Amino acid sequence: MNNTKYIFVTGGVTSSLGKGIISASLAKLLQGRGFSVTIQKLDPYINVDPGTLNPYEHGECFVTEDGAVTDLDLGHYERFLNILTTQESNVTTGRIYQHVIQKERAGDYQGATVQVIPHITDEIKRRIRIIGQQGHVDFVIVEIGGTVGDIESFPFIEAIRQIRWELGRNCAVIHLTLVPYLSAAGELKTKPTQHSVKTLLEQGVQPDVIVCRTEYHLNESIRSKIALFCNVEVSSVIESIDAQSIYEVPLQMLEEKLDIEVLRKTHTAIPEKIDIQSWKQFLHKLRHPQSEIEVALIGKYVELKDAYKSIHEAFIHAGVANECQVNLRYIQSEHLEIEDIVPQLSEVDGILVAPGFGKRGVEGKIKAIEYARLNKIPFLGIGLGMQCAVIEFARNVLSLRDAHSSEMNPRTTHPVIDMVHKQEPTSPVGNMRLGAYPCKLLPDSQVFQWYKESTVSERHRHRYEVNNAYRKEFESAGLLAVGIYPNENLVEIVELNDHPWFVGVLFHPEYKSTVANPHPLFVGFVDAMKQQSKKK
Ligand code: GLN
Repeated sequence: MNNTKYIFVTGGVTSSLGKGIISASLAKLLQGRGFSVTIQKLDPYINVDPGTLNPYEHGECFVTEDGAVTDLDLGHYERFLNILTTQESNVTTGRIYQHVIQKERAGDYQGATVQVIPHITDEIKRRIRIIGQQGHVDFVIVEIGGTVGDIESFPFIEAIRQIRWELGRNCAVIHLTLVPYLSAAGELKTKPTQHSVKTLLEQGVQPDVIVCRTEYHLNESIRSKIALFCNVEVSSVIESIDAQSIYEVPLQMLEEKLDIEVLRKTHTAIPEKIDIQSWKQFLHKLRHPQSEIEVALIGKYVELKDAYKSIHEAFIHAGVANECQVNLRYIQSEHLEIEDIVPQLSEVDGILVAPGFGKRGVEGKIKAIEYARLNKIPFLGIGLGMQCAVIEFARNVLSLRDAHSSEMNPRTTHPVIDMVHKQEPTSPVGNMRLGAYPCKLLPDSQVFQWYKESTVSERHRHRYEVNNAYRKEFESAGLLAVGIYPNENLVEIVELNDHPWFVGVLFHPEYKSTVANPHPLFVGFVDAMKQQSKKK
């Protein structure tokens, strides 16, 4: 296993405490101290991947370069660390069982009774080890989804217990808990933390470090109490107080010396210096914007902000690059179908139409795009948002009245968005175009000015394409295909001429935006919105 060290991050008391952010923040600090770090998320649900989950369940799906549809925490890892995650970075119970059952069917277990222990736990351990062996990294941070004590997470905790025994000094366990404030008592309470550590102990795992989410500072007596009742050193009780922004958390953890604690626990020599300067500069700009704009985000899952996580974060990165605060106004696309759109859209500086699947809310998206086109409001359409821009143009400029995507209306006489690859009709995932594909840009396009490269690579997650049969008609009326996937001559980017910024992309630029490298399209879009806001 080389000399790779493993840090396991478990969660207690409740879900949504932010294990992903703590893991990514720790990784950032270790990276700053010169270590190479990668991260893996283990999800206890039975779906093979989250691709079939409704975004209301777990928020958006993140897509990796190599085409894995994964948990959104992988997005945090990429954004914080500026590294790429892969197929192996996200493992679900479903994937583990699928593999074990396939092996059983192939006779690989040679007549043995296939059981949770050792077969499932062995497969979990194999997946954990793969990630360490791959890139010869110094540290692998393994985040276990869910809460300890859940039936589903038991095999994962057991696998950690075993692997920890096997790795000895090369490993540490961090347990994230909640220290709630009870206003009736006027006190922070440690009991839930004690109980959740007890649950972990029942499963044979003693945490080395306890990170406590809290609304108020932990005083020395609270820290000592947690240390005493949970068998950890006082210095291993780390406060994680509510932050204004997730980007503050690495600095909070630096202050609390989480990285030092982890290095101590894994018997690693502690480098004196930490290079976190560029992160601090980013934070400074984030806290002190020079201007402010508002963008409408039109989608059908707007009630749950996590459904558009990567878009939200990409706006933060691009905002900082423009020294501008980007406020998002989430608008339910279905509402636009029945309501007057002018009051909702006339005040914003730009309109983003979100990606998505299925029919719901599509007509509202098309109405909003018409408004952006006619009123020359900066517009960015992503995935379905781009497809809607093509449909809107076909209907209202080319006068192809029933133009549609064959996803929404299989019987349309003008399928301007259509399927190119043969599909498996019964499969909800089918033949998706998933992961990174090259895209060639037209040198005199607006997007080229921001990318400054003639061939780029972007991540996809869709089945439908722009129908090339209509391309000439679109182009002569002003909707230009400025980005092409050369291998199959498919349209990736459309741009409207005679408009300050009207761009539709079939791929997902938001997945590639990081703190270190804000995405050029988002940077360009925010710049266009800044110009727009000056006009008002
Ligand atoms: N539903 C559309 C398709 O499958 C668009 C998906 C997306 O927004 N990425 O082509």
